[in-house]
Amino acid sequence: MIRSILTVFLALSSALVCAQTQAPKEVEAVYPDAHALYLDLHEHPELSAHETQTAAKLAERFRSIGYEVTEHVGGTGVVAILKNGAGPTIMLRTELDALPVEEKTGLPYASKVHTKDDAGRDVAVMHACGHDLHMGAILGTAEIMARSKNTWHGTLMLIGQPAEEAIGGAKAMIHDGLFTRFPKPDAAVALHVGNELPAGMVSITPGIYNTNSDSIRITLYGKGGHGAAPHTTVDPIVMAARTILSLQTIVSREIKPGEMAVVTVGYIQAGTKNNIIPDHAEMGLTVRTYKQDVRKQVLAAINRIAKAEAAAAGAPQEPLVERYEGTDAVYNDPALAERLRTPLEAALGKNNVVTAPPITPSEDFSYFVEQGVPGFYFSLGGADPEKYAQAKASGEQLPSNHSPLFAPDVDPALHTGIVAEVAVLRNLLQGSADQFKKFGATPQP
Ligand SMILES: [Zn+2]
Ligand SMILES: [Zn+2]
Repeated sequence: MIRSILTVFLALSSALVCAQTQAPKEVEAVYPDAHALYLDLHEHPELSAHETQTAAKLAERFRSIGYEVTEHVGGTGVVAILKNGAGPTIMLRTELDALPVEEKTGLPYASKVHTKDDAGRDVAVMHACGHDLHMGAILGTAEIMARSKNTWHGTLMLIGQPAEEAIGGAKAMIHDGLFTRFPKPDAAVALHVGNELPAGMVSITPGIYNTNSDSIRITLYGKGGHGAAPHTTVDPIVMAARTILSLQTIVSREIKPGEMAVVTVGYIQAGTKNNIIPDHAEMGLTVRTYKQDVRKQVLAAINRIAKAEAAAAGAPQEPLVERYEGTDAVYNDPALAERLRTPLEAALGKNNVVTAPPITPSEDFSYFVEQGVPGFYFSLGGADPEKYAQAKASGEQLPSNHSPLFAPDVDPALHTGIVAEVAVLRNLLQGSADQFKKFGATPQP
């Protein structure tokens, strides 16, 4: 056991050393700029759809290195174009937004920012999803691509997308003419940092990369009254409690074992005082699935159960079941993913490029793919390799994205992000645009 742990640790350490020593001079040359932007953004995060300073900083830097920059695309979105002769148009995307999370990493550059959210509540703000690192990486990549125009041809399109966390920014950019006012890309690329992989490594997931996400709000209607006279009421709190438990049988009893589905009731709100039975209860759900047919089955079951539990309780009115937000799974064109494995292995070392199964969080990068643009979305290791090896050995989980403790191991992760993005872009920005026609963009199998 100890020997195998040691082997994993040594393998990871050597992988890391390898990635670091191999970081080419061109990456070292741009790293200080990328790192400085990362620190600045980490300390000054902004919430979804309010990324005004963030977008302005990114736009200003893209402009200063020779990109043609358009701001305010779909809200705070940024589009930066660098033309370099005939050839394909390739899009690389970063997100701009941070989260309402109070940072507890203890880092010297930890965010202390507080702001009002859209509901007027005071919230702390933190780059708890690593979008600051994505922005640092895209800046480094932008500089390298601008300095090495002899290594590629075509049109490079960098975008800073707002409101990814609210699943709205990609759609807003498309509706604001992202693919009509600007060249429509022949392929689109993005990465995401996380602790599922040690820094220095990347992973590729051909096919379905992540989940379909659906946000559901259920409002159950009862009959209010005195808490001491339940016989004069229909209690929506008891109705809600029963509904929550019944909803948990969808995955355990209705979905075929082995198929992926998550049904989480993330909040329940009802009542004001202990001796009042309220007249309604509201709950919010998140539903995640990989496949469309499983998604349909789960959503239908939620609807059926909510209505049936209300009927069983003698509710005076059918519940309202609303799907108020949703996004499709990100689909990685398998042939494109396989093609890009080669340049990633060449740039990072064969051992630093692995294949990973789909993940459960969601992403609105799928909106770009659904416009008929083949996509390549890959994962960037963010975990301190030593901590990663220790956690693997002890079975504990490192803080996930969105945790107040989420802190990528910046130095290796940012280097690797830049190296990986440049390798992928140079591979795609060769030959003619026609080669991409063979990559289907059918996102949903
Ligand atoms: Zn996130
Ligand atoms: Zn994210």
